[in-house]
Amino acid sequence: MTKIALVTGGAKGIGAAIVKRLINDGYKVAFTFNHSEEKAQNFVNEFGEKCKAYKLDITDSTAVNEAVDDIEKTFGKIDVLVNNAGIAEQSLFTDISDEMWHKMIETDLSGAFYCSRAVLKYMINRKSGKIINISSIWGEIGGSCEVHYSAAKAGLIGMTKALAKEVGLSGITVNSVSPGVILTDMTRCFDSDTMDELKGETPLNRIGTPEDVAGAVAFLASSDADFITGQDLAVNGGMSI
Ligand code: NDP
Repeated sequence: MTKIALVTGGAKGIGAAIVKRLINDGYKVAFTFNHSEEKAQNFVNEFGEKCKAYKLDITDSTAVNEAVDDIEKTFGKIDVLVNNAGIAEQSLFTDISDEMWHKMIETDLSGAFYCSRAVLKYMINRKSGKIINISSIWGEIGGSCEVHYSAAKAGLIGMTKALAKEVGLSGITVNSVSPGVILTDMTRCFDSDTMDELKGETPLNRIGTPEDVAGAVAFLASSDADFITGQDLAVNGGMSI
């Protein structure tokens, strides 16, 4: 039977690579976008009924519940949730305003909480499902001038491990993937010297691609990962943690 996946922030960057990879692996994929409407529409044009796009701000828990209910009713029963949507920001710790702090935590941590809670209502009833959270190397080791981002992503790893324990008996796995430096709009703000420096710090001597992350997500979503839960999988070219 065709498996159904929900990918947040699926219209561009890592999320888009995950959507494409899961469709190529035979899934039907519901994905969300917030601002990238044109890119989302291009996906729907390319993949037709194999995907469905939802405009959704993941920080709006009511809208998240409504979108998940609609996916379950009109698209299919969600087997896999990928909490990918997120924001990043560089700032000195002492320059982080209350507003910046709350926006980061709300997007990168609470968003995954809202989506997981909405989907688990269905997964627990069915006693099956897989949740995959996209964290970050900075959530594992901490990133200077990205304390709010690092804190949110570390929280996501903590949520992963704790939730895995809680829902294991319901047949649900919860894992995270922590990418290193991946070339997307999120990292395009770095100048070429910084990117060269980051590449130099990576034993595999290259910047990662969205497809590198999508491969790890596809593995964790597959039956090959049925006995893996509560784990954080680093996809970082060997960058030292
Ligand atoms: P992009 O900036 O390319 O994509 C971010 C995605 O998140 C977009 O699809 C965007 O949707 C979505 N998004 C942001 N805020 C919201 C919101 N409030 N509601 C709904 N969707 C939202 O970045 P990446 O593809 O690089 O990042 C994807 C994930 O990977 C993030 O969680 C990021 O933290 C993580 N990551 C990235 C790394 C990298 O080096 N690139 C390294 C480690 C982790 P839209 O465009 O439609 O607004």
